[in-house]
Amino acid sequence: SEPAIRTHKKALVPTKPKKPIDLEGYLQQKKPHLNFVVLGHVDAGKSTLMGRLLYDVGAVDNKLIRKLKKESEMIGKSSFHLAWVMDQTSEERSRGVTVDICTSDFRTSGATFTIVDAPGHRDFVPNAIAGVSQADVAVLSIDCSTDAFESGFNLDGQTKEHALLARSLGVRHLIVAMNKMDSVDWYEGRFEDIKYELRNFFEDIGIKDDQLSWVPCSGLTGEGVYKKEYPLGQTWYKGPSLVGRLEEVSRELQKYSFEDISNTPFIFSILEVTPGSKANEAIVSGRVESGHIQGGETITIYPSEQSVLVDQVLTGNNQTPSPVAIKGDFVSLKLRNAFCDDIQGGDLAAVVGYDILGAQEFSAQILTFNLDRPLLPGTSFMLFRGSCEQPARVKKLVSVVDKSDATKILKKKVRHLGSKQAAIVEIELVEKKRRVPMLTFEENKHLGRIVLRKEGKTIAAGVVKTLEF
Ligand code: GDP
Repeated sequence: SEPAIRTHKKALVPTKPKKPIDLEGYLQQKKPHLNFVVLGHVDAGKSTLMGRLLYDVGAVDNKLIRKLKKESEMIGKSSFHLAWVMDQTSEERSRGVTVDICTSDFRTSGATFTIVDAPGHRDFVPNAIAGVSQADVAVLSIDCSTDAFESGFNLDGQTKEHALLARSLGVRHLIVAMNKMDSVDWYEGRFEDIKYELRNFFEDIGIKDDQLSWVPCSGLTGEGVYKKEYPLGQTWYKGPSLVGRLEEVSRELQKYSFEDISNTPFIFSILEVTPGSKANEAIVSGRVESGHIQGGETITIYPSEQSVLVDQVLTGNNQTPSPVAIKGDFVSLKLRNAFCDDIQGGDLAAVVGYDILGAQEFSAQILTFNLDRPLLPGTSFMLFRGSCEQPARVKKLVSVVDKSDATKILKKKVRHLGSKQAAIVEIELVEKKRRVPMLTFEENKHLGRIVLRKEGKTIAAGVVKTLEF
């Protein structure tokens, strides 16, 4: 069983930033930032597409490309050099996380981006969950070549599960990269057929049309990815390229106000932790979930309850110091007075004064997926909250509720749950020593979400309603 985390003494008094900035002025000139995850069936062309994108936006130098090209020609697979770019340029983030996540940053004239990727085992769903939980937007790569779509999009296909996860974990927009269009000569009928089928499925799982974009592209040739024009034969699609669409979405989503950033507490979800160069120094990377943070401020990390000083905020592939990080940013925080061994991926941090409690039990509103066996009181499963993963079980089935209006109770004495039912349930963690820092959906729309998996399948997803301690 897992050892209990040592707890420390929590600070009660906040500290002030070293160099307070003019937040309003900073927000006015800041380019929008977007975190996105790349999803899709194995072989859908995800790595090639991201390699192409990073190369075309100028995030990779020619020397690296020449080296990778040579290496891939040597093994007789010259198209592979693009697929290797992502693994070469990204900073591996593996320590302290149950899954391997790596990120790669790039910028265009209109926005800055972080690609969240899980390079180790791309077909491994827990990795997709961790990636999706750090993302605002998902790019879903669809292989449009002949027959490939049909085989990838069957009931066991990852395309469906990935789309469901994106929906359940609160991804705000889904860009469907209709990839490998070069292999079908940019045939519009192919594009429309696949779009029709996918759209029905998206509608079925509750992804609305205005949360969806469709971009035909080819990672291999670069057409439709960034600057490279669509080929001559293609006259039917008039929209932006993939990067163009990402820029538009970054502007559409970044509509927070100065009040929203300045009046909400700083909350941070930690994806990875590495020891610093000095004693008691640690670097934690992850996503700012709300508010903002500056060097000089003190934060408390949960569940270890250690209060640490934020020495510096670091951003980008080169980890350059930044005066501030705000909601939505993917950053690293250099910490002082930290006990690195007591910090793990999946931990949360908040500014002094905002307590995040560890729960042993909680109630949740869930929606079950396709179940092989009904969900019963006592059914055990793996609980995912972001990149945090814990064994748990159903304590009680409280009620079955209406799918579109959870305040409407359909049934009170519930003995089991079947497929595609909405319900209120009580969940308890199996490991009694460990408390998972949690927030309700009301407190945080992103962190208050959970996914339930059993025997390698996602069985339900939902939101945390109330915590019990
Ligand atoms: P991943 O598993 O989703 O990361 O897919 P990869 O990027 O490794 O690509 C899988 C295979 O599809 C490789 O053989 C690629 O060369 C090929 N491929 C990738 N993108 C394209 C494309 O845009 N057009 C064509 N024709 N083939 C592609």
